[in-house]
Amino acid sequence: MINFIESFLFPLECYGCGKVSSNLCDNCNNRLIYSIPECYVCRRVSSGFITHENCLSEKTPYSAVFYGWQYNSITRKLLHAYKYRHAYKLSEFISGLLFERFRRLNISFNSESFVITSIPLHSTREKERGFNQVELICKGFAKRLNIEYTPILERIKKTESQSLQSKKGRVQNVRNSFQLSTSSKGLENGKGILIMDDVITTGSTLNAAAQEILKGLPNSEILGIGLFRGKPRFSDN
Ligand SMILES: [Zn+2]
Ligand SMILES: [Zn+2]
Repeated sequence: MINFIESFLFPLECYGCGKVSSNLCDNCNNRLIYSIPECYVCRRVSSGFITHENCLSEKTPYSAVFYGWQYNSITRKLLHAYKYRHAYKLSEFISGLLFERFRRLNISFNSESFVITSIPLHSTREKERGFNQVELICKGFAKRLNIEYTPILERIKKTESQSLQSKKGRVQNVRNSFQLSTSSKGLENGKGILIMDDVITTGSTLNAAAQEILKGLPNSEILGIGLFRGKPRFSDN
């Protein structure tokens, strides 16, 4: 009954184009393109999103980084919509889509061996916006995946937007911008850690976060989850 009243008072609008239909109309849904499994470092195809052995290094320590969808005009709109309006409803919607994507890829995690965390915002930025959109999505996803959400990192440097930086500038911009939080103290060294971010470009933010975690928990396996990533330069589709 409540759902009925809600849909009467607040008809569902497509997050992509605003048309009154469902959360995502057929037309926009068709433009959500799954990312092809690739290695996050060299961006060549790699089954299961596993990082190639010779692409792993101290600076690029993720054993795998999974992506949801290509970053394109429709996912840009979704991202914009959840940053600036409908944040809570949309984070539920996106975490549901992501969970479904993982289920279809047959990817799951043992709740005893893994925790999940998200890339934090600097506290002043979070106050300005009122929430951290990645954290909201990550918490919804954690619940569905049945693994514990733990805020392992804090952001101690207020960085400029990564989208305004060159590739080299991005590494510099996020250097030393994270520190381990007090909640990380309870984690056993060796616990697997999944780190979520929304858009992955060069991976500098993810790498800076992992490097900080490994200082305190050097035996942990680190895996990444990005909601969106642009298609590789050499991809021809
Ligand atoms: Zn639409
Ligand atoms: Zn590679």
